[in-house]
Amino acid sequence: MTTAPPKSLAPKIGFVSLGCPKALVDSERIITRLRAEGYELSASYQGADAVVVNTCGFLNSAKEESLAAIGEALAENGRVIVTGCLGIEADRILAAHPTVLAVTGPQQYEAVVEEVHKAVPRPPQPFVDLVPPQGVKLTPRHYAYVKISEGCNNRCSFCIIPALRGGLNSRPLGDVMREAERLVAAGVQELLVISQDTSAYGLDLGYAKSAWRGQDNETRFLSLAEALGSLGVWVRLHYVYPYPHVDRVLPLMAEGRVLPYLDIPFQHASPAVLKAMRRPAHQEKTLERIARWREICPDLAIRSTFIVGFPGETDDDFAALLDWLAEARLSRVGCFKYENVDGAAANALPGQVPEEIKHERYDLLMQHQQTISAELLEARVGKTIEVMVDEIDEEGAVARSHWDAPEIDGTVYLPGEMGLKPGDRLRVLVEAADDYDLFARSIDAEAARPVAVG
Ligand code: SF4
Repeated sequence: MTTAPPKSLAPKIGFVSLGCPKALVDSERIITRLRAEGYELSASYQGADAVVVNTCGFLNSAKEESLAAIGEALAENGRVIVTGCLGIEADRILAAHPTVLAVTGPQQYEAVVEEVHKAVPRPPQPFVDLVPPQGVKLTPRHYAYVKISEGCNNRCSFCIIPALRGGLNSRPLGDVMREAERLVAAGVQELLVISQDTSAYGLDLGYAKSAWRGQDNETRFLSLAEALGSLGVWVRLHYVYPYPHVDRVLPLMAEGRVLPYLDIPFQHASPAVLKAMRRPAHQEKTLERIARWREICPDLAIRSTFIVGFPGETDDDFAALLDWLAEARLSRVGCFKYENVDGAAANALPGQVPEEIKHERYDLLMQHQQTISAELLEARVGKTIEVMVDEIDEEGAVARSHWDAPEIDGTVYLPGEMGLKPGDRLRVLVEAADDYDLFARSIDAEAARPVAVG
């Protein structure tokens, strides 16, 4: 007779995390806190004593997806606590799903944990030592998102984030750096800086000084990039706007201290549309700025997102966007078809664009950019680049270059490279490219192989 392993008596919480990387960071914080209190995570609905659904409320389609996820959790488990961006619309959630146990809003970590306590009493012993010092990460162990601020001071007409999350609220530089150091000490090889407006970091604090490693550093974008760049891991900057002061971070990229990568959600290029969108930096001459950045750091990759079919967008505006893209030659581009979001100012704008025109423009933009992407990647063939391995599958290693963020950008496939593990960094020779991805082989391993003579 074999003895079954002792069954864990710790209560188990299921977790469903929807939405953007910022919501993912919120989920990580909640989970870290629950694990610190001795709760365990359940990978299945059936094994959970209750389920937390962290919702997204950014677009109407995201709200629908969140409501569907709540419905699924209720059907599968029955004991559901809702949190996240859609949480500010508690009435809507309760109208659709009256049996949810509780609804809390974005960043209400204390409130959601409190609701978990009510639903599933916390275990008598807090197993604080179960939590690794870097917290619990929902991303693979070799990369991690670092959220440097909450909220946003901008008022883009299509966006309700400031209403949901309030104004800019930056974390002091020392706080961010201590978290980054913990992550690096735990083996993280790539830090992805996220916020709603990374280039505005510290503005709300008056760029106050903050102590880190015995020195006072200003809480501002450049100091943060410098400090993160000193940790010896890849540092990737997301959600940056093309303000003049961003120029100063380019030398760090040229020197290899920060990845030569900027994620800038331009959203459009036509001045009229940008004005109607009330975009930050909408009066900047972005093509000139991009040209200047490339003079400083020729290897720079820019990724961006665009909205087509914004109210009032004319054929000429859309043509201006395509022309701009042809000139800007961005490395990576995502596109959204505009949709009204409850509570957003843009809903009231005249000139709503018919759905079929939105689809047409979306297809045109993606085809246009596909050609640019293929040309840019083709130019990498024959070059030696550094990559980081994300996973190993049956065909070899799947990696990313300096110019590819996880989940959203491209991939570098290393067929036949099996002796690697996630987080490994190596030099590879690019042998082929398609529209979005590269194919390469390791030259580091080759250097280690005996060389046949004769
Ligand atoms: S910058 Fe604009 S789109 Fe981004 S969160 Fe702020 S208001 Fe919303």
